[in-house]
Amino acid sequence: MPFADILGHDRIIEVLKRSLRSGKTAHSYLFEGVSGCGRRKTALTLIQALFCKSSTDDACGVCPSCRKIDSGNHPDIHLLSPLPDKRDISIEQLREMQRELSLRPYEAPRKACIIDPAERLNANSANSLLKTLEEPPGNALIILLTENAEMLLSTVRSRCQLIRFAPLSLEHILLLLERSGVSQEAATLVAPMSGGSLQKALELDNESLVARRENVLAKMEKLSINQIATIFDAAEEFSGNRDATLELLDMLLSFFRDAVHLGAGSGEIVNRSVRPAIESIASRRSLPHNLRLLEQIYETRRAVQRNANPKLALDQLFMTMSEATA
Ligand SMILES: [Zn+2]
Repeated sequence: MPFADILGHDRIIEVLKRSLRSGKTAHSYLFEGVSGCGRRKTALTLIQALFCKSSTDDACGVCPSCRKIDSGNHPDIHLLSPLPDKRDISIEQLREMQRELSLRPYEAPRKACIIDPAERLNANSANSLLKTLEEPPGNALIILLTENAEMLLSTVRSRCQLIRFAPLSLEHILLLLERSGVSQEAATLVAPMSGGSLQKALELDNESLVARRENVLAKMEKLSINQIATIFDAAEEFSGNRDATLELLDMLLSFFRDAVHLGAGSGEIVNRSVRPAIESIASRRSLPHNLRLLEQIYETRRAVQRNANPKLALDQLFMTMSEATA
């Protein structure tokens, strides 16, 4: 697909198009951003543009090469991901990819490889990748996708051009959900919980999400009583696994962002169907207080994503939240 079909990353696309026009694309890229925000699409379009003979800085989308890439059937593109049921990208997989890249391309001017997610390269495979990143065989293009570049070896990071993708905005998620045939009602419910990831928005199950959201709002109400047992119980409940914790934090971010909007006098909120609960959050504390909490929820989310212990992180966050109302 042409770059114009990718939503929300205009500045990145402008940079890529400029390097395509000047023939100065990097050998290795590291695309960092939440899974489902458009990194893979951008990577594939960049490869399409490099392979496409009809255009210098874009994919035409209709030539045989562009069409093969769109349907996932181009013989010169290699995708490297963990095998089913395996945690890591193994050294054997990596060697196989290196062997493929060393062969002459079948039809494209060069070979290309996407490694997704790059944080699943284990130490052996990451070390073995270093030389390939430095001197890609046959001018091959290597694109690594990651949710968090800091989880990669610094020696891998430093050999790639880092491009940071922002999460998709709420408006773009809503638009993309609509294009995917999701009803408007369902879209307004899941979009705020998606953390800027279309993939996550599409995976969220409406009904169980509604139930989980009600539960979180009820627990938040209880936290305001400032009882230590309630705080630790709630932290225990939501720290079962990292994904559950991140979902909770996404919900809290969305609630507090809305509460801050209300506190600042704007009537526009995204969690429209639970407006009374949001109004209650907004009125329980001052606007600066809610802003500080919003910042702390962001911090907690970053920490949990960087492997902080979810239970301890939530204990601390919930303590602050209950103190703020005392
Ligand atoms: Zn084309």
